[in-house]
Amino acid sequence: MQTVSTIFINGQPVEGGREPFPVNNPATGEAFAQCPAATPEQVDEAVAAAQAAFKTFQHTPDAELKAMLHRIADLIDANADELARVVTLEQGKPLALAQMEVGAAAGWTRYTADLDVPVKVIEDSETRLAELHHKPLGVVGSITPWNWPLMIAVWHIMPAIRTGNTVVSKPSSLTPFSTLKLVELINQVVPAGVINIVTGEGGIGRAMTSHQDINKIVFTGSTPTGQDIMRKSADNLKRLTLELGGNDASIVLPGTDLDKIAQGIFQTAFLNMGQTCAALKRLYVHEDQYDEMCAKLVELASEQVVGSGLEEGVTFGPVQNKAQLDLVAELVDDARAQGGRVLCGGEAQQGNGFFYPPTIVAGVSNGVRLVDEEQFGPALPIIAYSTVEEALAMANDNVNGLGGSVWGDDIEQARAVATRLESGTAWINNHAEVLPHCPFGGSKMSGVGIEFGEEGLLEYTQPQLLSISRG
Ligand code: NDP
Repeated sequence: MQTVSTIFINGQPVEGGREPFPVNNPATGEAFAQCPAATPEQVDEAVAAAQAAFKTFQHTPDAELKAMLHRIADLIDANADELARVVTLEQGKPLALAQMEVGAAAGWTRYTADLDVPVKVIEDSETRLAELHHKPLGVVGSITPWNWPLMIAVWHIMPAIRTGNTVVSKPSSLTPFSTLKLVELINQVVPAGVINIVTGEGGIGRAMTSHQDINKIVFTGSTPTGQDIMRKSADNLKRLTLELGGNDASIVLPGTDLDKIAQGIFQTAFLNMGQTCAALKRLYVHEDQYDEMCAKLVELASEQVVGSGLEEGVTFGPVQNKAQLDLVAELVDDARAQGGRVLCGGEAQQGNGFFYPPTIVAGVSNGVRLVDEEQFGPALPIIAYSTVEEALAMANDNVNGLGGSVWGDDIEQARAVATRLESGTAWINNHAEVLPHCPFGGSKMSGVGIEFGEEGLLEYTQPQLLSISRG
């Protein structure tokens, strides 16, 4: 087993102050490397370094910030093979998907580099000139999850740096290595202290969220952790962007050509083995087409090759961790006990690794845990409806509101239904499509704030109104 890398504080590689901890390869269920563990004192040091760097970094000219992000994107590309392999080793996804994640990380960085921070003229009259400017906030704490470890770190870190903030990053303890490598690369470009990283289980995230010198937390992960972060942030009124759990509903309108949409539905439900915040997690299908839709999805599931992400030809990797695997199994078993019909999959694979095949469950409805709760894994419940109004009511009957979708041949009819979904994004004939220029965020219990595009960028800034009197 290798002991990998160090944490980074003030531009320097630093040994963790505690015993390193093991990180599992989900395809074997066994540790493949040891990760350095920071102490709470090292969190303080990282925040102090970021605070000191902010004094000058906040004044960096825009063109220089943009150039830095472009250089970082080039470094991501230059290290793409290593990054993709690390993502597969720690996260489990098939290598081709990890390569897509790395490619998207570079692309997202470039897009963010080229975004402008707008100055809005509010009034330009004889009496006054009033302009709305945006200034960086200070130290941004980024706390990331284990499903898209590199991509989500990029989503947090790049807009923070682009707007002149400094950063302390804390990746999930289940998938720390791709972010450690990313931070090492970023440190080759930015001044010391602009990006710092502290890894470690449990207390490290909490040490950040209650830290008085962190000005903003950007967090992607579970809703309970998001709530905890919000409570802890009250003391110094940290700005927050919280991208939390989802339980996205999808409605197939009556009479839709299922041949056209089955592949899209399967791909967006089982994207990253279903471990995607905005994956399609509940599918509502009209009773007349119910059996046909189920059969098509089962056929697509049967085509998947389940196995280690590093093996050639594998299309479906393991679940990232044992706790998530157990949750998926528990929800499917519960659905079965409630009369649900498991049409394919439905049992964890025996042997090493956290493998659970793509699973389709029919004969369930709202009120069953697999429908009501976020499964965050490879099990899709399909629910029959008799009227579109009933489907909408069931789709909206959930505490979450991240994404939602409507699939149909008549776009105007689909639009009319989609706009009534209680969700931050409503897709038509698609799902789970996040793009660097499209603002993305949750409603209800799925989050606070927006990521991506100009709206997302401005979440890393403090508005300042400049009012020049002409009287
Ligand atoms: P968590 O929310 O527990 O963890 C996400 C990140 O937050 C990790 O870096 C974790 O660190 C850190 N963290 C945990 N507790 C705290 C805290 N109190 N204060 C500050 N930081 C904290 O998610 P899990 O990994 O446990 O996954 C559980 C569920 O979350 C999944 O079943 C799924 O429903 C949802 N989830 C949603 C994701 C999304 O993209 N929206 C992504 C991943 C999970 P550490 O690893 O060191 O504990």
